[in-house]
Amino acid sequence: MANKRKSSRPRFSHHPGISDQHALEIVRETLGTPKPVIAKPADPDTEPDWGGQCEVCGASPIVPATGMCGPCTFGEAETAGGNW
Ligand SMILES: [Zn+2]
Repeated sequence: MANKRKSSRPRFSHHPGISDQHALEIVRETLGTPKPVIAKPADPDTEPDWGGQCEVCGASPIVPATGMCGPCTFGEAETAGGNW
């Protein structure tokens, strides 16, 4: 075993008496296994079109299918800036 551990190494202070590796495993179990990110297929009707301007408010990008920006198309302010 070439496991040299410096005693000054920070530990998970809230888990005294267990190894850092074990603590990491506990953290992973607590957080759960990350789900694989499934990329949305590119849809030309809804891909943000940064070259266009919203018919209503003039913002970019727009949803090509509607000719309007995200908030005007979806009614959701969070969709501003192509975030849909
Ligand atoms: Zn708009």
